[in-house]
Amino acid sequence: MLAAQGMQAVDGGEADLVVLNTCHIRERAAEKVYSDIGRLRREDGSRPMIAVAGCVAQAEAAEIPRRAPSVDIVVGPQAYHRLPGMIAAAAGGGRALDTDMPAQTKFGALPARRSQGPSAFLTVQEGCDKFCTYCVVPYTRGAEISRPWSAILDEAKALVDMGAKEITLLGQNVNAWADVDGRGLHHLIAALDRIPGLHRIRYTTSHPNDMSEGLIRAHADVEKLMPFLHLPVQSGSTRILKAMNRSHGRDSYLRLIEQIRAARPDIAVSGDFIVGFPGETDAEFAETLGIVAEVNYAQAYSFKYSPRPGTPAAAMDQQVAPEIMDERLQRLQALLNEQQHAFNQASVGRRTDVLIERRGKKPGQMLGKSPWLQSVHVQTGARIGEIMEVEIVSAGPNSVGGRAAAPALAEIAA
Ligand code: SAH
Ligand code: SF4
Repeated sequence: MLAAQGMQAVDGGEADLVVLNTCHIRERAAEKVYSDIGRLRREDGSRPMIAVAGCVAQAEAAEIPRRAPSVDIVVGPQAYHRLPGMIAAAAGGGRALDTDMPAQTKFGALPARRSQGPSAFLTVQEGCDKFCTYCVVPYTRGAEISRPWSAILDEAKALVDMGAKEITLLGQNVNAWADVDGRGLHHLIAALDRIPGLHRIRYTTSHPNDMSEGLIRAHADVEKLMPFLHLPVQSGSTRILKAMNRSHGRDSYLRLIEQIRAARPDIAVSGDFIVGFPGETDAEFAETLGIVAEVNYAQAYSFKYSPRPGTPAAAMDQQVAPEIMDERLQRLQALLNEQQHAFNQASVGRRTDVLIERRGKKPGQMLGKSPWLQSVHVQTGARIGEIMEVEIVSAGPNSVGGRAAAPALAEIAA
């Protein structure tokens, strides 16, 4: 969008405009923007034009220039397409602020991407109607909206034409996607499956309550749908899940995992966890360790509960002390790291396809992804964008090492 106005990306110091894209999900992420703004002042006292974008912009709006007067532009996530006009206004000496939430208009107004690597993200859904009591997303991103079928398929085809071999469908609750005719995400996946040249399909992030039978079946039926599922549970305690307004319990989550594994036995399951939700007891935290032990995660993200302004949980009694949260997070992460390492070790000896995504640090080394979303490094002459067969020969906590199992296509051609 800005390139169409003659702008180009440059390294930090010399930029005329800096856009800080922000996250409001936890306090630490939200506070970071203010220290980043401070660092943009140059030695001679001048500064670039500063735009704050994203969910902090949406949530704090006019509060941002009050706290950081050097900010020229505040633009919420649903108003990005209006950025060129806002820059013009700010260049004229004004301050521009836009946190409207006009559902849909943004996607139609954004220009098409002009280049694309082998692995592409494609937003199909935004917003959330679930109102978990700790979470700001329903307030910052608004109600759930689904982009229309034809716009998504057109964009997917364009991405493949530009070189994408893999598409990850994105949404705050991506499996809540539905079109006007009531078709769900699995119908969309079936349509993507028919695009020639597209080899891999993924989607994230999913909510347990929107895991339809059709979507579970797709994991058995659609070969291009990769055996990886990020399905956050947050806590292993049914009482805490209720207080979080998660609308699923411990048992219903475990049953769901069972069904998904029945459909696709080798699926790698990933999750999100919050420790120290208000009122969480030692015994309830132990239930989270217990559900982790039961599910056995291939990957996970875990966080200390962070009270967010305006959310019901922030006003709850019995906020958990920071030292207790620290200790719980350490114990949980130790277990999750152990599981991730074990998952990687269990794949040693396996032959699998790897999509090569970029060059590694060592000469001749390339980095790619396995179907289970593991980072794989391999010595090969294969080029970025190739899918090659690899035998996994070593495993670390965060990646695995592979050896070319069959000559890569590039080598055959040579
Ligand atoms: N829609 C997805 C998650 C989106 S937010 C889902 O419901 O599963 C990403 C993750 O951030 C959440 O899964 C949760 O683990 C974490 N998170 C959200 N609000 C938080 C808060 N107030 N404190 C700590 N972690 C939080
Ligand atoms: Fe936030 Fe996810 Fe809950 Fe929505 S479903 S409120 S995005 S945690």
